[in-house]
Amino acid sequence: MSVDKMLPLRVVASTRLTPHMLRLRLAGHGLAPYEDMRELHVRLYVPRLGHHAAVQRALRELEGPPDAALVARMTARYYTVRRVDARAGWLDIDFVLHEPAGPGSAFALQARPGDLCAISAPCGRGARAAQRYLLAGDESALPAIARIAESLPARALGTIVVEVASADERIDFERPAGMPLHWLHRDGEPACASTRIEALVRAELARLPPPDPALFVWLAGEWTVAASLRPLLAAYKPHSLCVAYWRDEPPREDNDT
Ligand SMILES: Cc1cc2nc3c(=O)[nH]c(=O)nc-3n(C[C@H](O)[C@H](O)[C@H](O)COP(=O)(O)OP(=O)(O)OC[C@H]3O[C@@H](n4cnc5c(N)ncnc54)[C@H](O)[C@@H]3O)c2cc1C
Repeated sequence: MSVDKMLPLRVVASTRLTPHMLRLRLAGHGLAPYEDMRELHVRLYVPRLGHHAAVQRALRELEGPPDAALVARMTARYYTVRRVDARAGWLDIDFVLHEPAGPGSAFALQARPGDLCAISAPCGRGARAAQRYLLAGDESALPAIARIAESLPARALGTIVVEVASADERIDFERPAGMPLHWLHRDGEPACASTRIEALVRAELARLPPPDPALFVWLAGEWTVAASLRPLLAAYKPHSLCVAYWRDEPPREDNDT
């Protein structure tokens, strides 16, 4: 893993939002770039198993780029900055808690106020300005969908589709009045086998006007689901984005990205 920048952040609060979603509020300096809606995500650096204490010491003393020893003790996962207040010096990340846990979800579950982690510079693409939107994804995409929806002007039109494991996992968020939100539930079905998002997105696209700059389509979620959605969007380029956020498969041997 090559790393130019690690911005240390301190856990200040941990809030269980649903049975499988946990929010960490992380405090630090220099958060203004993370308020830019064009780049919604970060690489979150968390300690590898067994390296918690050494990483805490190294991050406390970190000035400038991390050295190779610190980088080797950490692993990275992509997360969305759900909310940020640079002036107040904090940002929120919402973590899906899944089984088997990986380093990202395990860090979230075990994090206590005072613990340190680190983030990269902001990365990834947000929604582009449009008059009509189609936003869809699963719980891993819910933080990004909610952040995008909350940032849109009140006159924005469109549809939002979010698939979660069950009704307990719904987390409501503000959105323009002209953007109804459709919740879908897997109710025990594996995420990779779900065809509900695809069916709803297909129906929405059939209703929408032909691709034009007034429309933006944003889709993210499980790898197989994203792969099934991508062909539907071929006609909507460049006014669309479809990204795999995770893959429903056994953990990798090398648990690093
Ligand atoms: C741009 C981007 C933004 C993202 N934003 C968020 C975000 O805001 N919140 C968030 O929770 N995730 C987000 N994700 C997804 C997150 O990076 C992955 O879920 C990641 O695999 C979690 O790392 P981990 O260490 O917990 O699990 P890993 O070590 O990567 O995986 C361990 C096991 O858990 C399974 N797994 C991983 N993720 C999930 C899941 N969501 N549900 C069920 N099983 C899973 C894997 O298949 C594997 O078997 C984002 C991904 C991208 C690319």
